[in-house]
Amino acid sequence: MKTKGLLIVISGPSGAGKGTVCKALLEKNDFWISVSATTREPRDGEIDGVNYYFLTRDDFQSKIKSKDFLEYAEVYGNYYGTPKKSALDAMNLGKDVILEIDIQGALKVKENYHEGVFIFILPPSMEELKHRIINRGSETKESLVTRFKSAYKEINYISKYNYAVVNDTVEDAVKKIESIIIAEKCRVDKVESEILKSKEGIIHE
Ligand code: 5GP
Repeated sequence: MKTKGLLIVISGPSGAGKGTVCKALLEKNDFWISVSATTREPRDGEIDGVNYYFLTRDDFQSKIKSKDFLEYAEVYGNYYGTPKKSALDAMNLGKDVILEIDIQGALKVKENYHEGVFIFILPPSMEELKHRIINRGSETKESLVTRFKSAYKEINYISKYNYAVVNDTVEDAVKKIESIIIAEKCRVDKVESEILKSKEGIIHE
């Protein structure tokens, strides 16, 4: 029987760089990343089914009703959610699944999947976070202010996570996440049943 994959939740405030870190992590590793559904408009270059599944509010709400999401949240006036079936199927096939989601969503996942690995990405400083949000260039002045304000509040949720990774450089942040995943796979509670099985094998030899 294949060992179930890990559920790795990567979140943190807007501008901490979690999207860039996840992209670099996936370039080097055979992880399975969940494609979220959202009601926000696609940005230039974003492709339906690749970056997000872009849904109408009605479609999103009917998926909420039919319990199609592992979690969902309303972020800056738009819905975002993780399709449940594909993520659970991938884990059951032994794939390590990455969810790159906001903090509200991460807390909801934690309520139902304590065994998940919860990683909080921090910017090197709040000043740097501000620069990153501004340099993204995709926000109106109003939405920039909203994002700053919520980023300041969101940092307080760090204590709900298992690990904190400061995103000084993408390369170092990726190394730290890879190390966390390796360590998680070596945890006694995760490998206990495998150890017992091999012990039985030795006894019966
Ligand atoms: P953006 O609009 O910049 O792509 O994403 C806005 C925020 O929504 C980011 O913090 C991103 O991590 C979060 N997000 C993306 N997908 C999901 C999801 O499936 N669930 C939740 N809760 N948040 C998500």
